[in-house]
Amino acid sequence: MQSPLIASDLSSRVRAWLDAHIVPAEAVLDSEGAAATGKADELIAAARRAELWGLFYPGAWGGRIDRLTDYVPVAEEEGRSEHGPMIFGSEAVIDAHMLDRHGSAAVKERYLAPLAAGLATPAYGMSEPGSIGSIPSTIQTSAVLEDGHWRIDGRKWFICRAGRAAFVTVVARTRPDAPADDALSMIIVPTDTPGFRVERELDVFGRHQGQCEISFTNVRVPAHHVLGRPHAGMGLMRERLVLGRLVRASHWLGLGQRCFDLMVERIRSPRGELAALADKQLMRQHVFEAHLSLASARALVRAAAEDFDAGRRCDVSANLAKVAAARALNRCADSAVQVYGAEGVCAALSPLAGIYRAARAARILDGTDEALINSVGRQLVGIDVTAP
Ligand SMILES: Cc1cc2nc3c(=O)[nH]c(=O)nc-3n(C[C@H](O)[C@H](O)[C@H](O)COP(=O)(O)OP(=O)(O)OC[C@H]3O[C@@H](n4cnc5c(N)ncnc54)[C@H](O)[C@@H]3O)c2cc1C
Repeated sequence: MQSPLIASDLSSRVRAWLDAHIVPAEAVLDSEGAAATGKADELIAAARRAELWGLFYPGAWGGRIDRLTDYVPVAEEEGRSEHGPMIFGSEAVIDAHMLDRHGSAAVKERYLAPLAAGLATPAYGMSEPGSIGSIPSTIQTSAVLEDGHWRIDGRKWFICRAGRAAFVTVVARTRPDAPADDALSMIIVPTDTPGFRVERELDVFGRHQGQCEISFTNVRVPAHHVLGRPHAGMGLMRERLVLGRLVRASHWLGLGQRCFDLMVERIRSPRGELAALADKQLMRQHVFEAHLSLASARALVRAAAEDFDAGRRCDVSANLAKVAAARALNRCADSAVQVYGAEGVCAALSPLAGIYRAARAARILDGTDEALINSVGRQLVGIDVTAP
């Protein structure tokens, strides 16, 4: 098991490496957008050489940190740049764990091995144009087992990295009339399978960052491409969401902290001194509220990570942490933009414009605020819910 000392060493190394290599390249990386080639590939290779890539992959697949509690502060540092999770390989960390835990031996060899070697990008396909993301029972994409193969038909959208992915983990309905808990399956589909198509790339607030609409028309993959047991996909979705929310929340804390640091830097800059910003109570309030949101979200993320590591049920703590981290990021990004004035809204002059837009999306992806509040609220009043 990774000792906390080594994890904290990794955390400062990630921070130093990100400041030296990723932050100066952010404008170029922004311009590459969804293509993520050239500079991104160069930085990924350099992060691998520095042994800072894939730190939280399963131990058998090259990971160096075993416990989520130890990874959270490292993930925060990875998240200080919007591009950090891609460069450090951590946007694939959930897929690595899901394949390791639930993939057949053949799936691990064919998909997890290249993923862990940095040769294959994964995507996760749950959301659909025709169904309600917050209610998985509405998923319409179908998979039928015939002649030892799943035949998959349907359409997904807002799928991160789908345009450059080697494979997609698709959530499909495998029992047409059963309740959702016994009706869904996760199935691996290589993107070079006939019938798989990237229909179009979708922007997020005008930026193209790799979210795509994809379609499956009579797509056939072997039966062993299912993760875990057939029809037990809801349980896997819950498992994936808990880990995914906590990793993403940690990255958002890092991005929020970056906004906070930029805000303080501006207040203390010659320009800020000229306007005596540090003496202004309303400026101090921005700093206070941003700090409060980060400190409280950080405590919730760490508490949820402890639940996770201890094997305790953590849907309430993970959902609280996710909502708090998304709010903290929004709070910090909004205050930092305000303190920078016009420069804060201009992507050519500051990273804040991009972060601000990413912050808004954080309240929707991986579970909308309302769905999580609803779920936590029901449990707090004693109505048990198992929906994600
Ligand atoms: C940047 C980005 C990246 C994404 N990446 C991926 C990806 O890689 N893979 C993937 O599969 N999906 C991805 N998504 C999609 C994301 O998971 C969904 O948008 C999310 O689950 C919400 O689903 P929805 O868009 O269908 O909205 P809906 O669920 O339809 O929600 C719309 C509104 O209705 C409210 N609502 C719905 N149900 C309830 C309820 N029970 N109680 C209270 N209010 C409710 C919501 O809170 C919200 O305000 C991504 C989205 C974004 C923005």
